[in-house]
Amino acid sequence: MTRYIAAYDTEMLGDCLRACRKIRAVHERFEIPATFFIVGAMLEKEGPAYRSVLGDCELFEIASHTYSHQMLRDHPFCGPAPAQAERQREIRLGKQRVEETFGRPCVGLRPGCGFANGLRGDTWLQDEIHAAGFGYVSSRLWGPEYSLPALLEAPYSYAAEGSPELWEMPGHGWHENVLKAHNLTTSIQRLLAWPMPDPDLVPPGPLRSAGEEFELNRRFIDKAVKMDLPYISLVWHPWSLAKFDPPMRMLELTFQYVRDRGLEPTTYQAEWERMKNG
Ligand SMILES: [Zn+2]
Repeated sequence: MTRYIAAYDTEMLGDCLRACRKIRAVHERFEIPATFFIVGAMLEKEGPAYRSVLGDCELFEIASHTYSHQMLRDHPFCGPAPAQAERQREIRLGKQRVEETFGRPCVGLRPGCGFANGLRGDTWLQDEIHAAGFGYVSSRLWGPEYSLPALLEAPYSYAAEGSPELWEMPGHGWHENVLKAHNLTTSIQRLLAWPMPDPDLVPPGPLRSAGEEFELNRRFIDKAVKMDLPYISLVWHPWSLAKFDPPMRMLELTFQYVRDRGLEPTTYQAEWERMKNG
């Protein structure tokens, strides 16, 4: 049975922290675990506040969203990657900030923006991430040719490229901020693949309500279950969720659906442990 992972790319000063307070309350009410991928530089300013909002809740895994959201690979929409030394700093310092803030190991990394093929073809990056002490990376976040939605892909290890101990745990679906036109540098029309891999997973236009967002989430969850995927995890951002839906109604509807369908909720870390232990 497919498991469900709630996950948040936590990256904006102030707005994400305020949103996380509301998000935590919904998670506690439904007893749903979550993974928060957090930008390290943000913790230099808001570390104590994050520790009090997320740190003492045993439902939550805290992982890294790099040090300052710089690209780890060249990205067609988000920009080019900096020099190797800078990328190494993004990987290592991001992990260090999470660990010193929360006082526990950080085993997962979600690179800023993510990539269509994850880390495939970049063995330097795979080695760096593994050498820094990460066990998994959630970097496959786009569909073919950097289209959206990201397809429903299962996790895999980078064994074929020489890093058997590094796992890819893909994220699925739309980056919800894009569907709400919250990032206006990229139009939605530019992001669709042709031919469309699955028209059922493409809404007719920007989302207008929490109910519409839930309906789309439901289609992804249903399809993942039908495919017998190990897990389903949508790409969410606290700042964008709060801007679109201040009462976090979409989270309530989605978590209620996860409960009604009987999906086991989990975290990326727990799912990675299941994968590597076979
Ligand atoms: Zn991000």
